[in-house]
Amino acid sequence: MHKRLLTRERLEKIGVCTNTSCGICGEGTEILPHLFFEFHFSEECYKLLNEWLGLRTNDLILDGIWQRIIRNVRGKLCRKLITTVVAALVYKIWQARNDAIWNGKVPRSVMVCKQIQQKSRVILSVHNIRKEGIRSRE
Ligand SMILES: [Zn+2]
Repeated sequence: MHKRLLTRERLEKIGVCTNTSCGICGEGTEILPHLFFEFHFSEECYKLLNEWLGLRTNDLILDGIWQRIIRNVRGKLCRKLITTVVAALVYKIWQARNDAIWNGKVPRSVMVCKQIQQKSRVILSVHNIRKEGIRSRE
């Protein structure tokens, strides 16, 4: 799914835009690895959520990230929650990118993470998963 995102680099290739710089930081070329999670904003969001979930991974490569993260997590619901959090993070970063380009606003990484955490708490309560229930097999 993420390979379908029309980054500025992809838009430039099909002749839709000429500016390939990242919509959020403006420093790198807007390609998927840059957006997820090579630049400061997305890297910080990812690390904050990893810390919140109690995961100990510094793996910042998007391809296959779900499988690598959940491989060592016990419980179907915990794996489902982590998958949901990662999907929400990708969505929020893309939303932040669009907001930066179209509205000139970039949210703070802490706020993005708080929004994801609030939504996740609803999921946690619905499925009665305690946060300490997310444990790594390591
Ligand atoms: Zn950037």
